[in-house]
Amino acid sequence: MGLWGTKQLRSLNDLIYLGDIADMTEIRDEKNHVSLGAGVTFSDALPLLTKYFPDLGEVMRRIGSTQIRNRGTIGGNIANGSPIGDSLPVLIALNTEITLHSKNGPRQLPLEEYFIDYGTQDLRPGEFIASLRVPKLTQNQYFRAYKISKRFDQDISAVCAALCLTFDDDNVSSARIAFGGMAATPKRATEAEQALIGAIWSEDTITAAMTALERDFSPLSDMRASAAYRLQVAQNMLLKAYIERQGQQETRLVGQGACP
Ligand SMILES: Cc1cc2nc3c(=O)[nH]c(=O)nc-3n(C[C@H](O)[C@H](O)[C@H](O)COP(=O)(O)OP(=O)(O)OC[C@H]3O[C@@H](n4cnc5c(N)ncnc54)[C@H](O)[C@@H]3O)c2cc1C
Repeated sequence: MGLWGTKQLRSLNDLIYLGDIADMTEIRDEKNHVSLGAGVTFSDALPLLTKYFPDLGEVMRRIGSTQIRNRGTIGGNIANGSPIGDSLPVLIALNTEITLHSKNGPRQLPLEEYFIDYGTQDLRPGEFIASLRVPKLTQNQYFRAYKISKRFDQDISAVCAALCLTFDDDNVSSARIAFGGMAATPKRATEAEQALIGAIWSEDTITAAMTALERDFSPLSDMRASAAYRLQVAQNMLLKAYIERQGQQETRLVGQGACP
């Protein structure tokens, strides 16, 4: 809403301040998931999110500035429905579920289904986002998230990517890959996911997923990035995730004395 004033010069009339509603600022560390009230600020969420999802913490640490993170809420980032809201692809890759509330009671929704089209969200009259529930990662899951912007701090993403892969030995048994900045809404890369699911984790497989991304997205050119750059950097982020996992495995093997 800060941007409605500073960029669109809109006058804001009556406002309802949600920041002091205790139920909406609750943070709960449950056995299998983290539960956050929609009014939890980025700064308040960061310690727990960084503990369980280091890359999510890393992306959130780059949202705006300290002042924006102290004031901006995760619920506001979702409700705003921007295709470049930084937390969105990351939370979608993690299979986050949101709870919407109205006088008719609660309604649960996978976060990805909330975004219908640019500027259109699945928010019915009288509803608000009450909370979100982020499942914790299991031992055989690999999670990575990256924000690409021109500046490290205080900059909106050109592209933001997150992937959460489940492994059965060397095979990818399931994949959730989501991008911001590549379409009119934050969106999963279902073609790239299909290229990975059931395949052995190898350079050939990741190359196939990178090619499949061309079928998933036709990004726009704007002042932040050209369409060609967006696609290229999105593909490179998949490659980066591949290289980083290879690096982790090699480090583990060296630690176990399996390598010279
Ligand atoms: C200088 C600046 C830098 C920024 N940088 C970034 C950035 O790097 N990355 C990024 O992703 N965003 C950025 N933002 C955008 C913004 O800070 C975030 O989207 C933030 O999460 C918004 O949260 P809020 O609580 O302030 O929401 P508000 O701005 O108060 O609300 C946004 C919209 O959501 C609605 N809303 C809020 N809460 C709820 C709810 N619980 N249920 C239903 N509707 C609700 C409001 O009515 C409004 O329509 C930036 C903003 C500014 C001003």
